[in-house]
Amino acid sequence: MDKYLAQRTKVVDASGIRKIWSLAASLTDPIDFSIGQPDFDVPDDLKAVVQKAIADGQNKYTLTAGDPLLRSRIAQHLQTEFGWAQPGVLVTSGVSGGLLLAFMALVNPGDEVIIPDPYFVIYKHIIAMLGGKSIFVDSYPDFELPIHRIAEAIGPKTKMIIVNSPCNPTGRVYPPEQLQALTNVAAEHQILILSDEIYEKFCYDRPYSSIGSFYDRTILLRGFSKSYGMPGWRLGYAAAQEPLKGIIEEMTKIQQYTFVCAPSPFQKAAIEALDYNISGLINSYKRKRDMIYAGLKDKFELVRPGGAFYAFVRAPGSSASQFVEKAISNNVLIIPGSVFSERDTHFRISYATSDEKIEQGVDILRKLA
Ligand code: PMP
Repeated sequence: MDKYLAQRTKVVDASGIRKIWSLAASLTDPIDFSIGQPDFDVPDDLKAVVQKAIADGQNKYTLTAGDPLLRSRIAQHLQTEFGWAQPGVLVTSGVSGGLLLAFMALVNPGDEVIIPDPYFVIYKHIIAMLGGKSIFVDSYPDFELPIHRIAEAIGPKTKMIIVNSPCNPTGRVYPPEQLQALTNVAAEHQILILSDEIYEKFCYDRPYSSIGSFYDRTILLRGFSKSYGMPGWRLGYAAAQEPLKGIIEEMTKIQQYTFVCAPSPFQKAAIEALDYNISGLINSYKRKRDMIYAGLKDKFELVRPGGAFYAFVRAPGSSASQFVEKAISNNVLIIPGSVFSERDTHFRISYATSDEKIEQGVDILRKLA
């Protein structure tokens, strides 16, 4: 086998998470706190748009950059939100698709990408496959943006800094002052910021603030998977304003030879989704956040999450992985922090599940604390 495989397959390791899945396979009806997708389904109106698009024969390729109406609606939204005049917009196959295209367009072998730790797992693996180097900057114990440490980590090979707010796995939402401060650091060296804003709608305590509104060298990635319960529809977008519009064009060129386009009938629903009111769903997730935090805060060390649908909790004892195994043997599926971090001290809870399961899971975790 080895003689056939490309070297890049060796730099990606999925053993940590595979171990959890194999432990999980032994459980019947577990309390599943491991899921990275919302528990609600796509609103019926949006499903109807796709059904009609398919019935009407809109099943061909779209333009590589995406359905023109969808792109112009996204551009209008960005103009209203950030004042970006005529941004470059590319519709992608999920934010994952956007990440792959962005890194392919930007990361040369040896380039360094600064990533606050803990982080969303995909980043480091794509960067490694491209021969780039992830520079992890520790953000424990409060998971604020580690601005001073980021400034110290900047060197001649630094290409970009990744910002993910609300953050997977910590649930941290960075306030505007921190984003502004990071911008000052990045601007000094004209470093790119890649802002993964997939959880932008899941922001519970303050209006959402994007680094895109402070910094013109931001590549923005947003998605539809989480906000509208459609992760299987594979929809997202990448956007940038001058002086970075050329990067979006290069990403479009790479999409032309890889993904070709995002799934076309679903792009029709994305047009409607942009203006769809999901405040009811977000409120129900805010309540779930409150349940998790109130249920665990006196027994565990955890920062109150401000967004997304995750809590990143310090595990009792010296090894979080061992605690996770104990939780799984008690029917609660959680993910060890080491999957998202260079440390093995915490575990991630996804509370994207029913209130009843949250209550049951909290009870069990409290007993194990
Ligand atoms: N970024 C973050 C931070 C995520 O948590 C996820 C999904 N787990 C993605 C990107 C990718 O989402 P998708 O490809 O479904 O848009």
